[in-house]
Amino acid sequence: MEELYADYVVIGTGPAGQKGAIQAAKLGKSVIVVEKEAHPGGASLNSGTLPSKSLREAILDLTDFYQRSFYGQNRPLREVSINDLNYRLHRILEEERKMLLRQFEKNRIRLVQGSARFQDENHVVILDPTQKAIARITADYFLIATGSKPRNPNNVPFDNETILDSTRLLAIDHLPKTLIVLGGGIIGSEYASFFAALGTEVTVIDKRDHLLPLLDHEIGLHLQKALSTLGLQVMGNKEPDKIIRTKEGVEVRCKDGTTLHAEMLLYALGREANVDQLQVDNVGISVDRTGYIPVNALFQTIVPNIYAAGDVIGAPALASTSMEQGRLAARHAFGAQTHHFPTFYPIGIYTIPEISSCGYTEEQLKELGFRYEIGRAYYYEIARNQIVGNDPGMFKLLFHADTLEILGIHIIGRAATEVIHIGQVAMSFNARIDYFIDQVFNYPTYAEGYRIAALNGFNKVKHRK
Ligand SMILES: Cc1cc2nc3c(=O)[nH]c(=O)nc-3n(C[C@H](O)[C@H](O)[C@H](O)COP(=O)(O)OP(=O)(O)OC[C@H]3O[C@@H](n4cnc5c(N)ncnc54)[C@H](O)[C@@H]3O)c2cc1C
Repeated sequence: MEELYADYVVIGTGPAGQKGAIQAAKLGKSVIVVEKEAHPGGASLNSGTLPSKSLREAILDLTDFYQRSFYGQNRPLREVSINDLNYRLHRILEEERKMLLRQFEKNRIRLVQGSARFQDENHVVILDPTQKAIARITADYFLIATGSKPRNPNNVPFDNETILDSTRLLAIDHLPKTLIVLGGGIIGSEYASFFAALGTEVTVIDKRDHLLPLLDHEIGLHLQKALSTLGLQVMGNKEPDKIIRTKEGVEVRCKDGTTLHAEMLLYALGREANVDQLQVDNVGISVDRTGYIPVNALFQTIVPNIYAAGDVIGAPALASTSMEQGRLAARHAFGAQTHHFPTFYPIGIYTIPEISSCGYTEEQLKELGFRYEIGRAYYYEIARNQIVGNDPGMFKLLFHADTLEILGIHIIGRAATEVIHIGQVAMSFNARIDYFIDQVFNYPTYAEGYRIAALNGFNKVKHRK
């Protein structure tokens, strides 16, 4: 068994592990990253963020999706095969993997392949797939960045062809004509819209009455309308009781007595932390009631030299937030100047159409008793949108009715996940809504939506100013 030493051992090569490892290396520390899978990059690169977003882009391109706005929703879909989609997907992932390995190399980060298990608070043992110990690493500090995996309950007969989770879905060998998606959270809603755009008949089942309850309600209504234009059916207030593999595909029996059939099923009802192989109890760490590792605001576990970041600590469980958590954990461990995780950060939801938001929703402002006003801009008012296809969408700016300070930004429609950052930056400098009015914006751009929405909102309150 090899004996290794490092200042910092990072377990997991997803976004939290990558950024944590690179940050520690930039601070001059010796870093070893441990990864149990053959491909580094975590769920983000191999089964989650990048594959799903690459597929989305490929679907929009290959089906000529945006041509439909010009030439009508009834324009026949351009036939797309799974091979077309996979070709693009694999090229992108290959490039991203190479880039990640280059970054490790450039920063002199050693990658050790194997599964890490804690022996005590300064040692991890690395096991090969046969559970044979191949190395022991001694370190001063550790970052647990082991991420999460799809929840696979025992009573669901998963396979790799018909009854799928978001990882298994990436291995299908043909596109289904019909698909049931269980769960209207982010992953379920995104994939449901992708398949609907491909022409698959999609039904989403959720126990709540609408998709994505985290959204500002008005934006949620826009999404619902856009998805029904795509032909997607949402069945709310429904819970699966039994999922059965049949000769033709899958049967879902719901608790209310309804039975649904489809060629494939995507089970998107939650994820769980990857902690089972770590043996964190050997160092006195216990997972919380939901299976995640508890940390303080500095991402320290109960054992001060062992940090945890990313999906393994629970919500918000995004690649974007995991990266920053990993970076902050490493900075704190090695005494570099740091700050607390930001209160407001953008959330991107890549349904078709995409959505992004930052700050409070209107419902939250009501609950908190804020005096607020709303500025709206509809996509049909934005020249850039007319040029590229007049897709539906809107900007919704929430601001304080007296101080005009921006309190929340919600955008649905093309480019939402990009242009949100303009609003995010403005919010982080406590900007007022008139900031957008007093600036010159490139024209024609989607960003112009900020000015139109700001003017709309400002006109409602100007007589009070
Ligand atoms: C379908 C899907 C779409 C998504 N889309 C987005 C999106 O658009 N935007 C966004 O921001 N987020 C998105 N996410 C979420 C994002 O992928 C995760 O939040 C992110 O990957 C979490 O990063 P992480 O570093 O915590 O863990 P992960 O990326 O899960 O990586 C953890 C790594 O640790 C390794 N590991 C586990 N246990 C051990 C062990 N004992 N020893 C060694 N290695 C171990 C795993 O093999 C894995 O490689 C999506 C997720 C899914 C599933």
